[in-house]
Amino acid sequence: MSLNATLIPGDGIGPDITDATVRLLDAAGAKITWDRQLAGMAAVTAHGDPIPDATLESIKKNKLALKGPLETPVGKGFRSINVALRKTFDLYANVRPAKSVLPGLRFNDVDIVLVRENTEGLYIGIENYIKIGGDERAAAQSIAVVTRFGAERIHRYAFELAVRLGRKKVTLVHKANILKYSQGLFLDVGREIAKEFDGRVAVEERIVDACAMELVSKPERYDVIVTTNLFGDILSDLTSGLVGGLGLTPGANIGKDAAIFEAVHGTAPDIAGKGVANPTAVMLAACQMLDHAGNGALASRIRGAIESTLRAQKTVTRDVGGTATTAAYTDAVIAALG
Ligand code: NAD
Repeated sequence: MSLNATLIPGDGIGPDITDATVRLLDAAGAKITWDRQLAGMAAVTAHGDPIPDATLESIKKNKLALKGPLETPVGKGFRSINVALRKTFDLYANVRPAKSVLPGLRFNDVDIVLVRENTEGLYIGIENYIKIGGDERAAAQSIAVVTRFGAERIHRYAFELAVRLGRKKVTLVHKANILKYSQGLFLDVGREIAKEFDGRVAVEERIVDACAMELVSKPERYDVIVTTNLFGDILSDLTSGLVGGLGLTPGANIGKDAAIFEAVHGTAPDIAGKGVANPTAVMLAACQMLDHAGNGALASRIRGAIESTLRAQKTVTRDVGGTATTAAYTDAVIAALG
């Protein structure tokens, strides 16, 4: 299977870890034609715009992009990169897998895929202050918006993903006991969509606070989680923490017409240019991209090589307790492909 995809190397450690990922994909026999495009500070330097139209056009054409971390320029007049990408491509599903691989952590049996609604809820941006007497900011309100359309597509995405990945259960995480309208609609729609998958994927419901407690006491009981924007933002960092932190965590941003895959961590300016960055998160993001494009078998093979290299703890980068360079770790993963 051959694919066309946009590659955004990004800033800081981005070029090193995306190069390592492309080398691994080549060695694994992935047939991907990359269209290299700029974003972030690299694009500001070249074009004065952190997210140039040529980059957006490339993603529009290829519908798939792999992205290194980007430095968002500080100061007025610059478009927010993530907002521009999310709006342009209506990237409604944020998908974060968290799996125990590193030895020696508190839990060794976490394998959760968290699906976060990425466009609605409290992050829709309807906020204002309320003036009382002479106080302009006597009160403030932020409005959470849940639509049937938005809830249907995120629940359907989560259940379809569960089927595609051979998962057994989807947990609907909500706070409908208190927020009866917005969270109530989200939960009701989830129950309706679940019926379409009856017999294929089991469904359960959890109130978000109970879910948080269980995630840190018996995380192995969770499989796929689907939830609203704010809860997903918080719980996805929690699940990353369960498996060793953001450095190993990939994230996918999925829309109807495009999907963008990335590491969750930033540009790591403290180690940029030193050749010691851990490329695992971008490598796992590339595996999510292969899954999404229908090449799950190759994604599993690459994941297997990454996991066995990390478990062996012989040739790993220093952030996970080793001394290997980015290049040496990548060589070890390639050797583990078999
Ligand atoms: P960071 O994730 O870049 O770094 C935090 C710490 O983790 C640093 O000590 C860093 O060395 C380490 N680290 C991160 N990734 C690593 C890797 N792959 N291997 C080894 N160590 C790694 O977070 P920060 O310092 O808060 O942010 C730096 C810049 O990144 C900022 O400009 C921020 O805006 C940007 N950022 C971008 C994204 C993105 O593009 N998705 C996400 C977060 C932050």
